[in-house]
Amino acid sequence: MLMKIKNHVLILVTCCMAYSSCTTTTENNPFFSEFKTEFGAPAFDQIKIEHYEPAFLKGIEEHNADIESIINNQQKPTFDNTIVALDRSGEILSRVTGVFFNITEAETNDQITELSMKIAPMLSEHSDNMYLNAKLFKKVDAVYKESKNNPGTLTREQQRLLDKFYKRFIRSGAALDHQKQARLREINKELSTLEINFSNNVLNENNSYQLVVDNEKDLEGLPEWFRQSAAEEANAAGQNGKWIFTLHNPSRLPFLQYAANRDLRRQIYTAYINRGNNNNENDNKEILKKVIQLRLEKANLLGFGTYSNFILDENMAKNSETVMAFLDNLWKYSLPNAQKEAKELQRLMDKEGKKEKLEAWDWWYYAEKLRQEKYNLNEDELKPYFKLENVRDGVFAVANQLYGITLTELNNMSVYHEDVTVFEVKDADGSHLGLFYADYFPRSGKKGGAWMSNYRDQYGEVRPHICNVGNFTKPTADTPSLLTLDEVETLFHEFGHALHGMLSKCNYVGVSGTNVSRDFVELPSQVLEHWATTPEVLKLYAKHYQTGETIPDELINKILNQKTFNQGFMTTELLAAAILDMNLHNLTDASSLDVIAFEKQAMDKIGLIPEIAPRYRVTYFNHIIGGYAAGYYSYLWANVLDADAFEAFKENGLFDQKTASAFRSNILERGDSEDPMVLYKKFRGAEPKLEPMLKNRGMQ
Ligand SMILES: [Zn+2]
Repeated sequence: MLMKIKNHVLILVTCCMAYSSCTTTTENNPFFSEFKTEFGAPAFDQIKIEHYEPAFLKGIEEHNADIESIINNQQKPTFDNTIVALDRSGEILSRVTGVFFNITEAETNDQITELSMKIAPMLSEHSDNMYLNAKLFKKVDAVYKESKNNPGTLTREQQRLLDKFYKRFIRSGAALDHQKQARLREINKELSTLEINFSNNVLNENNSYQLVVDNEKDLEGLPEWFRQSAAEEANAAGQNGKWIFTLHNPSRLPFLQYAANRDLRRQIYTAYINRGNNNNENDNKEILKKVIQLRLEKANLLGFGTYSNFILDENMAKNSETVMAFLDNLWKYSLPNAQKEAKELQRLMDKEGKKEKLEAWDWWYYAEKLRQEKYNLNEDELKPYFKLENVRDGVFAVANQLYGITLTELNNMSVYHEDVTVFEVKDADGSHLGLFYADYFPRSGKKGGAWMSNYRDQYGEVRPHICNVGNFTKPTADTPSLLTLDEVETLFHEFGHALHGMLSKCNYVGVSGTNVSRDFVELPSQVLEHWATTPEVLKLYAKHYQTGETIPDELINKILNQKTFNQGFMTTELLAAAILDMNLHNLTDASSLDVIAFEKQAMDKIGLIPEIAPRYRVTYFNHIIGGYAAGYYSYLWANVLDADAFEAFKENGLFDQKTASAFRSNILERGDSEDPMVLYKKFRGAEPKLEPMLKNRGMQ
């Protein structure tokens, strides 16, 4: 459930060497000017792989020229001639990064990977050239000082943008001496490559494992739809008559949930939790060690004792102490819950008389049995009501009832893969709000998980192009894509991020849309999840894919009754990963770090039970590589906000127009134009309370 971080302003600055040879090679490079398409949407049908590198080079060249003209402006530095000019600079670069970094996630191949390895250090260097440019910093510094000497001359949004830029220069080392700056450049460059290596290794490990079953007996317990998709997977791999299961969520999770064959469950589970830890060419242990060491060194250079405090200085939580106290407090509620659940699962196992002890690979299987015993609910009963298209139309309908917006499919848009659908988003008054790209099915070139990103940022009159990418259950030859409850909530979640992007109404790129602090960005996404399973909304979209029948009340009640089911497990694995992330980035000495031993120590210290692994182990913890370093806690932090925010809708009505409009105008439209807590209090009238979140997670 990532929100991909692709900050326009961060990815700026220069590789001089390769220039001239490359820029001339492609005359009709679609990135060189605005896309000549309806809405200025990415011209995927014209973009070829050979366009990217010249576009990056030209983009860097253009951006450098923009920066030069800011520096050479003889007038006194002002907000407009310096900060706004910076905010708007580098058009070509924005265009190409917007497309390229979405493609590297959603539709990559060896060539793209190779290219991204080449581009990453180039961009890192370009960014350093910009933020370590003394002449440029002098201008920004002058505007900053002027604003502090004459408070009130800028609007709140302008002041936020200025502060953000100023801080970014400081945090990039603009105020350091040359020697330290040189070291910082080296670190950034090295990190950029290491981080790509890490996530490519995870992708490779994900794709390289297959559990091939050739004996039908081993499929015991698996529902028919799942057998069928595994058979199709085998067919596609030229292994007719067999069944293939993979580490991707839509395959691994139902396998763990339904497969009676315990040893096969163990095999697939063990393969999953050892990704990046197999001492092969995809091993991430040394890479992570190096990343942690370099990050610590960087934080030290910039005057912070730990990398976590360097990161958190920009977040709502402010520092590591606050985050650790927050997590420790939740852990006290969550671990006992998980222990209680483990006992219940053990009781089920004991009933089978096999005298086996509950292991991590048994959890999903017995939890599913317990769900049936306790709530008489088989997750499989729900799936026919969750046809992907119906769920998607459901979330569109929710957005319509809340904010009056409409989404209409456009059939003439060019896309990078046939699975992608494009919608035009319009406001209640019919005005154009933006484009929404939906890309929902897994492919080998797509990274795991689900995320929101954009091709174009919103600012002023420019409307955004937003995408949601997921890895949801694929349709089979005779069944459409039928989602699990968890997938339904994920789809709503990502669309919540999309709304944050699409409804943005800011004047500057640097503060618009989802360019907010990491522990605030999950509020709009997580809050939307609450609508997914309310009876009123379920009746709106949950229609049987064959009969069209609306989901019966009996099933709705079962869904509601089991809301806190297995929450001890869910919260504990999430918290364990968040604590692991914090511990790694709280280090003050990483010289002899052994990441696996460190993980064990950290988990032993908090008393994590062996039946549960952290939701992500260190060697495949993509979040902490991809922008959520010292930031995985954000999901829980924002969970306090979203649970409290949804209370407002519970109090006033699920679609209460006053509440919806307050949420839209104070949160969804505002980006980072104001302090997040100020925005939240404007919406809610008070700071968020912890209780609703504890209650939702069955911890109170
Ligand atoms: Zn999210």
